[in-house]
Amino acid sequence: MISVEEALKIVLPASAPVDAEEVELQGALGRTTAEDVVSDTDIPCFDNSAMDGYAVRECDVASAAKDTPVVLDVLEDIPAGTVPTKELGPGQAMKIMTGAPVPAGADAIVIVEDTEASNGKVTVFAPPSRNHIRAKGEDIVEGSVAVEAGTRLRPQEIGLLASVGCCRLKVSRRPKVAFLSTGDEVIRHDQPLTVGKVRNSNAFTLRGLIAEAGGEPIDLGIARDTKEELHEHLKRGLDADILCTSGGVSVGDYDFVKDALQDVGMELAYWKVRMKPGKPSLFGRAGDCLVFGLPGNPVSVMVCFELFVRPTILKMLGQKRIHRPMVKVVLDQDVKHRGDRRSYVCANLRVVDGAYHAVVRGPQGSGILRSISLANALLVLPEDSPAPKAGDTVEAILLNCPETEETPVVRCPV
Ligand code: AMP
Ligand code: MG
Repeated sequence: MISVEEALKIVLPASAPVDAEEVELQGALGRTTAEDVVSDTDIPCFDNSAMDGYAVRECDVASAAKDTPVVLDVLEDIPAGTVPTKELGPGQAMKIMTGAPVPAGADAIVIVEDTEASNGKVTVFAPPSRNHIRAKGEDIVEGSVAVEAGTRLRPQEIGLLASVGCCRLKVSRRPKVAFLSTGDEVIRHDQPLTVGKVRNSNAFTLRGLIAEAGGEPIDLGIARDTKEELHEHLKRGLDADILCTSGGVSVGDYDFVKDALQDVGMELAYWKVRMKPGKPSLFGRAGDCLVFGLPGNPVSVMVCFELFVRPTILKMLGQKRIHRPMVKVVLDQDVKHRGDRRSYVCANLRVVDGAYHAVVRGPQGSGILRSISLANALLVLPEDSPAPKAGDTVEAILLNCPETEETPVVRCPV
């Protein structure tokens, strides 16, 4: 059985960035840039006021104070969107709104709160604390990279791209990730549940995980535990960039997925990883398709996806950071760990006095989806290490943002 590191050394080099496609900016949220996007302009593209107030010469108002105010002539009004027509000279001011161009001759803005206007004049009661001018190019210089290749576009990057005039851009194609559920007992979630059956939760977990990672999920349905049915379903998945199966990869009498995958042309790279949950997972390749045989248990599916499939998708997208952040956490309770395999334990992190503290979320079992639903992290307990105790520090993979101390935590009965 190989270690998680050994498995990653096989999995990660197997994928390469996918091709790019061009999309409209409004459809680019969540996509990954396939090339640097260069600004066609300075941002801002002219010196402009950061405040509503009066454009002045700093030297004219340097001595202004409550009891010794300075009076200036107001030359003109500069609302945002207009262009000043005059140049500012000594003893003069121009009324200016936030975002309006700073007139020639002015080098500072006095905020409106420090002034009083009457009859074409303005009385200034205080010098500006700073110039309140947003300088041309202070955000982005024309010709420089606004958003680098390999960036997953969040709303702020989309806004930034709009500001540099980007209308269409090249993003990585979303890798096609086909997924197949297997098992005679697995029924659709909208079917009545009877003894012996289990609703297909993996298809939904996988669809979400794939989409969240930036892939295009393709549901291949449910295959019964026969080689014939598996062959038929698996063949349909081999056109995808990635094929994930769930279930049927262990050592049970009806676990035919490994053989069936090999029958349809997969070359097996490994089977079984020294981890818990997720031991029976496999990895291989069929032509250009990377194949992950994930276990059937719902938590195992998620853990194996997190460790192996998600980084593969992110690498295909050209992202630079392909692993979730790891943090050190203080355990608020003892945690069971046999030590024969590396354990990934569903935990809930909270921030207490600036440090991450972890509680284990309910009973840990590879079939207990609720535990990972209550979790925001996976504790990583190394193989060949003793079970950690309350107060010990261990590493954890952050799945989402931890709650703060103030946020009530829903505790699960242990
Ligand atoms: P297997 O790996 O096929 O032995 O399945 C392990 C466990 O996971 C069994 O209890 C299955 O019933 C369960 N399981 C397999 N596939 C699914 C699925 N798609 N949704 C929910 N549970 C599943
Ligand atoms: Mg099965």
